[in-house]
Amino acid sequence: MSDMLRDAASKGYAVPCFNAINLDMVRGIIQAAEEECSPVIICHAEIHFKYTPLEKIAPILVAEMNAARVPVAVLLDHGKSFDAVLKAMQLGFNAVMFDGSEYGYEENVSKTAEIVKIAKTFDVSVEGELGYVTRPRGGGAEGEDEDSIVSDTSLYTDPEQACDFAERTGVDALAVAFGTVHGVYLKEPKLELDRLSRIRALTDVPLVMHGGSGLSRGDFEQSIQGGIAKVNYYTNMALKVAERLRVQWSGEASRIFYHDLMMASIHEFREDARQVMKMLGSSRRA
Ligand SMILES: [Zn+2]
Repeated sequence: MSDMLRDAASKGYAVPCFNAINLDMVRGIIQAAEEECSPVIICHAEIHFKYTPLEKIAPILVAEMNAARVPVAVLLDHGKSFDAVLKAMQLGFNAVMFDGSEYGYEENVSKTAEIVKIAKTFDVSVEGELGYVTRPRGGGAEGEDEDSIVSDTSLYTDPEQACDFAERTGVDALAVAFGTVHGVYLKEPKLELDRLSRIRALTDVPLVMHGGSGLSRGDFEQSIQGGIAKVNYYTNMALKVAERLRVQWSGEASRIFYHDLMMASIHEFREDARQVMKMLGSSRRA
């Protein structure tokens, strides 16, 4: 993942990172990457373990990564516990995100630095998070926050601190907060692109955007110009694919076989992922 993101940062595009919670999603996303000739990151979030346990999906993700005709990285998304992070490394993930954003600054630094040290022995890339990308109540993101902390700019990433954090932890990628939110946008997002540019100017670690679903094409272009090299994407895909399937099958009075739904799902995940790759400029970069 580290090599992928350094290439993206130097050439001005972003690598898409898709949450894949079952085989249909994985197949659709890998097919899209091969058709678009795009590097891709597939990830599984600790918050989704309740749907698909890590040890069930890990062999599938790793096998698909190894069989793909394009560069693929497999990442643990929003790892909150040492246990999950270690297990992912042992199961063959080649990247982990340690999300220490709920801790105070010094604790986030020390915990993240410890993960980086362990990850080096596995040759695994590490993404850290500094600042906090919120999950507004009613936005449909799992683990929604209390209303009080939504759109609080004091939770945004401080550029000087980002520089210090990158140096002291040795992370390969850094998730930053500059106005995006997890889940569906309940009001017009206002990105602080100046803040992003200042972070970019002070640190040379590739930057990551979480909460990209629902932003405009222009927002993505400006964010990539501002230094974003990896975009996490899930909510929009999960909503859009389910809605398309609902519309497609609503007229069918009887006899919908599960295998038809499965093949239609793979097709829809593939088409949505291809659009994202085109938008982020990762097509033909593999
Ligand atoms: Zn996220």
